[in-house]
Parts: sequence; C-alpha cells; structure tokens
Amino acid sequence: MTALLSLEGLTKTFQTRRGSVRAVDGLDLEVRSGETLGLVGESGCGKSTTGRMLVRLLDPTSGRITFDGTDITALPQRRMRPLRSELQIVFQDPYSSLNPRQTVASIVGAPLRVQGVPVAEAHARVREMLGLVGLDAEHAGRYPHEFSGGQAQRIGIARALVTRPRLVVADEPVSALDVSIQAQIVNLLSGLRRELDLALVLIAHDLAVVRHVCARVAVMYLGRIVEIGDRDAIYDAPAHPYTRALLSAIPLPDPVAERARERIVLRGDPPSPASPPSGCPFHPRCHKAESRCRVERPVLSRVAGREVACHFPETS
Ligand code: SF4
Ligand code: MG
Repeated sequence: MTALLSLEGLTKTFQTRRGSVRAVDGLDLEVRSGETLGLVGESGCGKSTTGRMLVRLLDPTSGRITFDGTDITALPQRRMRPLRSELQIVFQDPYSSLNPRQTVASIVGAPLRVQGVPVAEAHARVREMLGLVGLDAEHAGRYPHEFSGGQAQRIGIARALVTRPRLVVADEPVSALDVSIQAQIVNLLSGLRRELDLALVLIAHDLAVVRHVCARVAVMYLGRIVEIGDRDAIYDAPAHPYTRALLSAIPLPDPVAERARERIVLRGDPPSPASPPSGCPFHPRCHKAESRCRVERPVLSRVAGREVACHFPETS
C-alpha cells in the first residue's frame, strides 16, 4: 500500500494564557490508500488536533503534509477546495456539527455545492447517500433537531462521504452517542469504508472499538506517537508501557481471565503539554522508568514488528 497522505515533523503550538502549548510535537505519520488506522490515547494527547490537520481544517505550526504526492501544507483555502472532496471529517458531536437551520438535503449536499456539482446530479447523489447511511428519502426535508443522536450522526457520515473522498477522519464518532447505538454507527462507518474503498483514520479513546475496526493502530502520548503497528502486534503484545497500561484497562469478557490478568494502573493524569517532562515524557507515570528515561528522549524504532519509542520496550 502506498502513502496517500503523510505528515512529516508536524507540530502545532497554541498560545494560551499559561504560555505556548505544543499540542502536537514533531509527528511523523503515513496514511495508506484504503487502510483503517486507529489513533488512540487519553484526552489531551493531540489526537483531535492531528485529525484536523490531516484534513487541513487546522494549519500546522511547522512540518509538512503531503497528499497524493503534492505538498498541501501551505495551500491557501481557495486552492484546497478541489481537495475538500478527497479529505473529509466526521465530528464527535453530531448536533453541534450540523447547521440547525438547514435541512438534511442541504447539509448533505453542501460539499457537492462547493464542488460545483449540478443541482440535479447533487440531488440524486444526496438521495443515494441517505440510502447508504440508512435514512429515508423523506428525511431529506427535515432539520437536525428532529433526529436522534444516532440518526444525526448518520447525517454527519452522509455529508462526509457524499463526495466519495479518499480519506475520512472520524473523531470520536460515537462517544457522544447512547451506548446502545454505538455499535450500529461504528459498523455503518466501517461497512461504508469497505464499500467505498476509502482510508479511515478513526480517533478514539475506546480501544475495543479501534480493535474492531482498524488494521493498524497508533498510540499517542503528549503530542507524539509512542507506538504504531499492526493491530495484532499492538493488542496481543504491546511493547510500550503506556500501551500496556491502556490495554490492561479494557475488561475481558471471560471473568476468569479478567480476575487473573495483570492490571497496570497509570499514576496520575497526563502532564500538561505546557510543561512536558524531561527525557521520556511518560517517565513520571511509568513503572519501568530508570534514570536514563529522565534525561534521554526515546525515538520511534523498530522492535518486534512495530515501532515503539521506549528505552526498555517489552518484547515478550
Ligand atoms: Fe518508561 Fe523509560 Fe520506556 Fe519512557 S523510555 S516508557 S519512562 S521505560
Ligand atoms: Mg478529542
């Protein structure tokens, strides 16, 4: 698989009252054509900021974004317009991301209007898209508040997919929804991804959802990737102590296995990106930390079939 989109040395700094905060810190990442990549980590680790930069909704402070061989880092919004149809995003909260004064047809058709698609063709494509996400043609004239959260997210998905993009970022697409319908929406997104053969970057703090949907997983901590690799490598034998801790918090379905397994409790909250720790940024919370970890920052290197940023990765 070739890289559809790549991020090189991507950094995003925000100015806050407490000084400058580096939300994303020199991140390298490739998204391949047609792949499913999960981006996981605790809240505040820079997942959403990365997702927004991936689709150029947010400008990076430095670094480079390449899409399909073209450097799009500094492309002005006017020149981004043709690319908008290729790079789309599904937001966490369907209601706040849908204009309450527009009908469903108008919301889902908006990306087609931007592309200058003729009205009759746009109309047909909106109807087709509504069908694909499981809504009826009669829903087209209604307004977002007339829908449940799950249906509203179907509208958000229809809007993201109507231009047949090559890459969709879904930022916590089900975490604002009722637990009982989360699986339906995840399965819908995952099924449409397969059907339309697009690359999906799924941002989630729920590692079970990512395991279900994504073939490759990247774990973020304080604006950087600390471990990245194929799903089975990451889930079956996590090498980074942070990944191990995150995975040990997922309950196992078998109660015997659940009682027997080791649970790694993370000490405290993630440190503020405004004042990141020295050396390995994870060292204040790491049960394996040694003196080297406090002074020397580990870089991603290949260990046991994945890449991991740790001086003492687990290899069993
Ligand atoms: Fe823990 Fe050291 Fe590895 Fe960082 S480098 S994750 S502190 S063992
Ligand atoms: Mg977020």
